Amino acid sequence: MLTFLGRGSAFTDEQNSAYFIDGNNLVLIDCPMSSFEKLNNRELNNTDIDLSAFEHVYVLVTHTHGDHISGIGMLIDLLHFVLHTPITIIAPSEEVQNDLHMYFLRIEGCNDSWYNLTNTNEFSISWLVKTIPTVHTEELAGKCFGYVLNVGGKQLVYTGDTNTIEPFDKYILESSYAYIEMSAFPSPVHLHCEKMHDKICEYTSKGVQVYLMHLDNEKKIAEVMKDTGAEFAPLRKTGFTAEDTGRMLSGIFDITDSLYKDMCMNNNKDHTMLFTYLTNLGKTIVDADRASFWKWDKRKSQLWTMSATGVDKIVIPDDTGLVGKALRLKKTLITNDPYSDPDFNRDIDTKTGYKTKSILVLPVADINGDFIGALQLINKNGSSGFDPEVDPKKLSLAALVCGIALESETFLEDSHHDRLTGLKNRMGFYYDFAKRYKDYLVPGNGKQMSVFICDIDKFKRVNDTYGHNAGDDVLVFTSHLIESFCTENDSVYRWGGEEFVMVMRDTNLEGAVRKAEQIRQNLMDSEISADGNTLKCTLSFGCSLFDPSKSIEENISKADERLYTAKETGRNKVCWE
Ligand code: GH3
Ligand code: MG
Ligand code: MG
Repeated sequence: MLTFLGRGSAFTDEQNSAYFIDGNNLVLIDCPMSSFEKLNNRELNNTDIDLSAFEHVYVLVTHTHGDHISGIGMLIDLLHFVLHTPITIIAPSEEVQNDLHMYFLRIEGCNDSWYNLTNTNEFSISWLVKTIPTVHTEELAGKCFGYVLNVGGKQLVYTGDTNTIEPFDKYILESSYAYIEMSAFPSPVHLHCEKMHDKICEYTSKGVQVYLMHLDNEKKIAEVMKDTGAEFAPLRKTGFTAEDTGRMLSGIFDITDSLYKDMCMNNNKDHTMLFTYLTNLGKTIVDADRASFWKWDKRKSQLWTMSATGVDKIVIPDDTGLVGKALRLKKTLITNDPYSDPDFNRDIDTKTGYKTKSILVLPVADINGDFIGALQLINKNGSSGFDPEVDPKKLSLAALVCGIALESETFLEDSHHDRLTGLKNRMGFYYDFAKRYKDYLVPGNGKQMSVFICDIDKFKRVNDTYGHNAGDDVLVFTSHLIESFCTENDSVYRWGGEEFVMVMRDTNLEGAVRKAEQIRQNLMDSEISADGNTLKCTLSFGCSLFDPSKSIEENISKADERLYTAKETGRNKVCWE
C-alpha cells in the first residue's frame, strides 16, 4: 500500500513521508527535507526510488509545518530544471493552497510556471477519496487535514498530524488500512500511545491493518503497542532480504536447469520450448500470475504470442494493445489500473472471466538494439502492482536472453522464407517435412497426402521482353495466387526460380488435380500488372500422391516427371499420369 521514506516526527532524523506509485506516476504524501534528500541523492542515501522513472509527480499536502513541506521547493526545482517532469502539489484546502503559494513564491523563490498548485476541492483524481479536516496545533487551526485514499483498489485512512482520531473513525472500516500518527509523549497536539492503546486494539480486532507513523520514540511506542497488532509504517526496502533472494534464485535455477536439460536431451529444432521457459522465467522473477512473450513480425505488421500462460496463441495488429504501445514508444509500460487505460484490450478478460489488475510490458531488443518483441507480465502476486523501478530491473537479464532467442528464431524463420514472394523456400519445405508431416511419412498408417509441382510457362520470355523487375512482379503475383488456394491443410513453397510445390495433407490425387486445375484456370484468366505492363501467364502442373515408402526426393521427382510431360505436350495443363 503505502511505503515510507521516513516515519519520524519533527525532531527525528527522517520525518514522516509516504508514497505510492500510480501507473507511471509517483504520489508523495508530504515532502519534508529528509525525504527530498533521499529522492535526490539516491545512491548516497541507499534509496532505490528513481524520480526520473515517472511521468508525473504529485505531492499531497496535509498541513504546512516544515517537517511536512520543507522539501517541496527543492523538489520543484529538481523536477523543473533537471528532470523536466511535471509536478502537481495538492493542498487540502484553498487556504492552505494560498499559504503554500506564498511559501513557494516568496520564500523558496519558485516561479509559478514550474509547478501546478491546486486543492482537493477543485482537483479530483481516482486515488483521492476524501479530505478530512482535523485538529492539530492552535496556530494551524482549520488548516490541518488527513485523507481517505484508494490505493490499488484498497481504501486507506491517513491521519496526518492530529490530536484526535474522531474525524477518521468512521472511515476506518473492516479490513481496510489505517496509517495513524502516534506519539510516545502526552501532548495537546498528537495522539498519545497510551491513550490510543485500546482504540488501536479495537481497529485491529475488526481486521484493520494499522500502521503507526510520525513516531517520536519508536522504542517506547513499540513497548506500549506490542499487544495491539499494529505495526510501524513500512520503510522503503533497500535491496532484497536474503530470504527473498534465495527464493527467487532457486526458482530461476529450477527453470534454467530444466531448460538446459531439455535443450541437451531433445533435438527440438524450433524455439517453442525455449520461449516457454523464458516466459516462465519472467513470471518467476517478478512473481506475476501470467506471462506472455511476443514477437513483432514487422513484415506483416503483427504481434504474435510465442508463448503465453492462460491463453491460446494470439495474433494481433501491431498498432493495438499495450504491447503495441510499448514497442511504438520504445519503452517499458506499467499499468496497475488497466481498465482505465484506453490501450488495454479487455477481450480476453471478458471471454474468460479473468481479471487483469496489473500489467508490465518490457520491450526486448536484438543485438543491434532494434526492438523485435516484448515480455508481458500480468497481475503481480500479493501486492498492489508492478514497481516501475524494481521490476523492470529484475527482468533485464531475462529480457536480454529473450532478445537473443527471438533474434535466433527470426534468423531461422528468415532462412526458411523467400524474400521476394514471402513463401517458404526449399529449406522451409524440408523443415516442415521433419516437423509437420511426420505422420504422413509412415507407410500403412492410413494417412494420405498429395503434392504438385508447377512451373510458369515460357517465363524467360517475360524477363527478356519486359525486364527482370516485371519478371519479379509476375512471380509475386503468381505465388500469391497459388497461396490463396491453400486451405489449412495445404502449404506452398517456392521450389526454385519459377517453380512452386504445394503439399496437400489429407488430400487424394483427385483432390490435388482439382486444385491444380483451379489454379491453372485462374492464372490463365488473370491480367497481371508487371512493372507498368499488363501481361498474361500460364502454369504447367505435375501432380502425384505421396508414397511414404519412397523418399521425399523420389516423390517430388515423380511429380516433376509429370510436369515435364505437361511441358512436352503443350504447357498450360495439369498432368497426373
Ligand atoms: P518453360 O515453359 O519450359 O518452363 O520455359 P521457361 O522460360 O519458363 O524456363 P527456363 O528454365 O528457360 O527459364 C526460367 C527463367 O526464370 C530463367 C530465370 O532467369 C528466371 N528466373 C528465375 N528466378 C527468377 C527471379 O527471381 N526473378 C526473375 N525475374 N526471373 C527469374
Ligand atoms: Mg518455366
Ligand atoms: Mg523452370
